[in-house]
Amino acid sequence: MGDPYGWLAPSLTTIRRANWYRTVKPLTGRSGPVITLDGRSLINFGSNDYLGLASDNRVIQAAIAATETYGTGSTGSRLITGHRPLHRELEQAIAALKQTEDAIVFSSGYLANVGTITAIVGKRDLILADQYNHSSLKAGAALSGATVIEYPHGQTAALQTLLEHQRSRHRRCLILTDSVFSMDGDLCPLPEILAIAHTYDSMVLVDEAHGTGVLGATGAGCVEHFGCTGQPLIQMGTLSKALGSLGGYVAGSTALIDFLRNRAATWIYTTGLSPADAGAALAALRLVQAEPEHRQRLWQWVHWLQPRLTDLSPQYTVLPTASPILCVQVPSPAIALQLGQTLQDGGIFAPAIRPPTVPTSRLRLTLMATHTLDHLQLLVTALQQLTRSLPS
Ligand SMILES: *Cc1c(COP(=O)(O)O)cnc(C)c1O
Repeated sequence: MGDPYGWLAPSLTTIRRANWYRTVKPLTGRSGPVITLDGRSLINFGSNDYLGLASDNRVIQAAIAATETYGTGSTGSRLITGHRPLHRELEQAIAALKQTEDAIVFSSGYLANVGTITAIVGKRDLILADQYNHSSLKAGAALSGATVIEYPHGQTAALQTLLEHQRSRHRRCLILTDSVFSMDGDLCPLPEILAIAHTYDSMVLVDEAHGTGVLGATGAGCVEHFGCTGQPLIQMGTLSKALGSLGGYVAGSTALIDFLRNRAATWIYTTGLSPADAGAALAALRLVQAEPEHRQRLWQWVHWLQPRLTDLSPQYTVLPTASPILCVQVPSPAIALQLGQTLQDGGIFAPAIRPPTVPTSRLRLTLMATHTLDHLQLLVTALQQLTRSLPS
């Protein structure tokens, strides 16, 4: 008799041998600019909680209040028994921030992308996608059954050429792009993409996971940053980064959102967002709007740190960025790992990101509004010492 699960152990061995093996790191205590790992305090440069709202007492209290009012679980899918007034309030608040007609919340950003893409395109359609797009956009594109073609990162000329050749062979066309690229920190050329989409009768879905709460005068994201508010497009994002909660959303026209409520399988056939997550996200959204000082502080840190990273060493390129994601590119995966580990030994958490996740090895630093100047100065001093001692 064979063992149908016997392939697992050798597969894990292969993963380990390639240095791709991953494990979880248990952090204890509240998350914030300082975290506790294995009983040690580390300054945290790996968080997506850009504004520090995940540990804001007002957001925590909103989660508790929602749980006391509605219980822990939403107990059903949104169309059956899982919908509360709180969900609608949250959707209306998202639509108000984005200045769209309506919005819909999913149980995660990943599910929002997969559900939306598979609902709006199929076999007869075309998807054009930036090669650096997030895994959830790629998964949605693959599952949709549409013809998927990737274009070189950020290159609108290539996008236009593809449309010129391919558009007439397909029914609908959907362009997919991150707004802030999560592993690089740069922005998509949104105004150019929207202009090209208009010319070639194509829809655009922009993923604002790292833009919402961070970019734009009111924190509405990259769309606001580029002055594209009100243009026809599909904006999605997550409640789990600057909003410090869990869940995803899509914002757009009344017709789009109504269609998704009827056709997005990852919204229809899954349990509604928990009251705690919905309550926390709503409270965080209100703070994003009422207290721009968190966003201003975050950008103050970006502008402080970026030139200091650039000055470190000609060997360590700082990748172009327009966000609180700052990447220091290093010559090899081994050096990235060594830098990350040495920083950690010195009390700083800064994750090394290597191929195959990204094409080139790098330290990926994310800033938070709740960092202090001391935190940043300690990082720069540690990096200055390290770059002097490491091989080039
Ligand atoms: C994190 C992320 C998502 C997924 O959001 P979750 O709510 O964590 O599932 C989607 N797109 C991008 C670009 C992201 O960074």
